[in-house]
Amino acid sequence: MSAKILEVKNLKKYFPLKTNLLGREKEFVKAVDGIDFHINYGEILGLVGESGCGKSTTGRTVLRLLEPTEGRIIFEGQDITHLKKNKLRSVYKHMQLVFQDPFASLNPRKKVGNAIDEVLYVHGMKDEAQRRETVRELFDMVGLRGEEDKYPHEFSGGQRQRVVIARALAVNPKLIICDEPVSALDVSIQAQIINLLVSLKNRLGLSYLFISHDLRVVKYMSDRVAVMYLGRIVEIAPADELFKNPAHPYSRALLSVVSVLGSGKNKKKIILEGEVPNPVNPPSGCRFRTRCKYATGQCSEIEPQFKCIGNGHFVSCHLY
Ligand code: SF4
Repeated sequence: MSAKILEVKNLKKYFPLKTNLLGREKEFVKAVDGIDFHINYGEILGLVGESGCGKSTTGRTVLRLLEPTEGRIIFEGQDITHLKKNKLRSVYKHMQLVFQDPFASLNPRKKVGNAIDEVLYVHGMKDEAQRRETVRELFDMVGLRGEEDKYPHEFSGGQRQRVVIARALAVNPKLIICDEPVSALDVSIQAQIINLLVSLKNRLGLSYLFISHDLRVVKYMSDRVAVMYLGRIVEIAPADELFKNPAHPYSRALLSVVSVLGSGKNKKKIILEGEVPNPVNPPSGCRFRTRCKYATGQCSEIEPQFKCIGNGHFVSCHLY
């Protein structure tokens, strides 16, 4: 069996913006514009980038909550890109989503234990006693022993995120897409949820696509990290390597914040000039060229290809 639980090839997600007189779409927001990456079994891949770079759209498209415009999504060797909706249920048994706002994803009128009981039933666990026992175990696992008879409003934000994690675990997933799972929580609670996710991953052998703008959390969590800019991945490397030696000028600027905070040495935060370009009409050649101090004529004409510059370290920039 391949070591890869997920492979994403040339994935694109465009959102139509304008139509012409014939009603045909003629302008698109190119939120995700041809990305390739994979996640190995038991691995955490962090996905970072400024807000609006396409991180969350990537997560939702991989899960087929958004339909891909182009490309392929291969989960456990099966191409799920065009799988019919009724067949996707068997995929969702193994691939789940935990996102930012736990309150929005829970029914306020339903006891949390009943909500998870329902998930178990839908996914084929028809025996009531078995479901009750499984709900109890799941709440135990996420540190909420005996709390299954409460309503969502009776929990704190961090506890609600634990409930959402318990619900994701109910179907025995292998891959969880975590989309900013702690950014809505108080800083004091964030560490608890992060530690819970890491311990569950180790205990259950899970893999995560961990999407976050919080670079310190990504650094702590991830085995490898992919950096996204304007719908494209510009660099991907083992986490230690990327945070020590970021190669792409955009990654260097983005990660300079963490170096400054982490080392306390003479490192300087790199301030990026200019605005992120419009994803409807991204710059020709390298998309980062309008903000890059190393840009040359070649950068506006030729799109840089991914190159391996070391052990598992890939970058897309003409400097290499
Ligand atoms: Fe800068 Fe050119 Fe590299 Fe793009 S390809 S990051 S513009 S040097």
